[in-house]
Amino acid sequence: MSRTQELISIAEEYGAHNYHPLPVVLSRSEGPWVWDIDGKRYLDCLSAYSAVNQGHRHPRIVQALKDQLDRLDLTSRAFHNDRMGGFLKKLCEHTGFQSALPMNTGAEAVETAIKLARRYAYERRGVQKDKAEIIVCRENFHGRTTTIVGFSSDPSAHGGYGPVTPGFILIPFDDLDALEAAINKNTAAFLVEPIQGEAGVKVPKDGYLAGARKKCTDYGILFMLDEVQTGFGRTGKRFCYMHEDARPDVLIVGKALGGGLYPVSAVLADKKYMDIFTPGTHGSTFGGNPLASAVGTAALEVLEDEKLDERSARLGKRFMDGLRAIRSPKIKEVRGKGLLVAIELKKEAGPAYDLCLKLKERGILVKDTHQTTIRFAPALTIDEKDLDMIVASVQDALG
Ligand code: PMP
Repeated sequence: MSRTQELISIAEEYGAHNYHPLPVVLSRSEGPWVWDIDGKRYLDCLSAYSAVNQGHRHPRIVQALKDQLDRLDLTSRAFHNDRMGGFLKKLCEHTGFQSALPMNTGAEAVETAIKLARRYAYERRGVQKDKAEIIVCRENFHGRTTTIVGFSSDPSAHGGYGPVTPGFILIPFDDLDALEAAINKNTAAFLVEPIQGEAGVKVPKDGYLAGARKKCTDYGILFMLDEVQTGFGRTGKRFCYMHEDARPDVLIVGKALGGGLYPVSAVLADKKYMDIFTPGTHGSTFGGNPLASAVGTAALEVLEDEKLDERSARLGKRFMDGLRAIRSPKIKEVRGKGLLVAIELKKEAGPAYDLCLKLKERGILVKDTHQTTIRFAPALTIDEKDLDMIVASVQDALG
């Protein structure tokens, strides 16, 4: 048995089987690249679902973490630490919001936003106790907690996990009439991804986000954007909502805020909303700890100093033009924004997983979603030459 097979079978033997990874075992990373245990190099085109926008092991972020490890680790939120304030100030400046609440994972940040919306509805808008509703979209992905999967429309995410948390109304994505029809006196918020990443990079029509923003304003409900996957330059703007006039009331971020090294997430809002939280009403042992704050600060500095949002816009266009120029009867559609791109194959082209295996042989790591779609989300530090290599490999692998 090869060492690769041996390591995979140990993981299979002792790990829960809640993932179906490609048969590759990685042991090293740098920038947009990862290496397997045999020294074979691959372009990482998934980037931990956009958590590695700055590239793997970015030297500045690694150094920030090392320096912090030598000074101060985890303090309790019962005390102040000398890193969190600076981090949150930087995050507010980066995003243009007045206040930030740090958490760890994307799902926790989404849960935080849900709590904010409900409390705001009861305390400030007079919604009757326990009646608040939050409107969400079909094919959403906001994380894996029981409450969040309860309003997922994907049976593999929610099946068998009931009873579900009440108070969520599902409407079709990219449908402003459905949004308007769902709003009533109990509506607290509309929670949506600006592009549905996990659903297969579903990009809404131009004007959808601005239209949703306007409807939320008109009806006095909170507009909450989950930019856990689309944020921090991924779609060619600092945040995806910036492609339109669609500043949310509540912005949910995660993934790349931790620079690929550490889980760091946050909820951002202006003070009139964030003030709804008072001591004891919400919290997290690890949220905003000194290590997270050091990493988060460095992650933001790298995004700004290297202008990764502009790079993503420029390279994303080149990449998408390249993929669209491939003449293959197997391709149904190429779509995306910035460096968040998907190829959807026609059903008769066979499972997208098979194409992933062929790309792996050619030194490119990607993963299928929903059987027919492959998402490409390389580090935003990738260069033209490597992007062109991906395009050529896709063409070659499609035969
Ligand atoms: N929201 C969105 C839009 C996501 O894409 C994800 C993760 N793919 C999450 C939330 C959940 O993040 P985490 O896995 O860090 O909980």
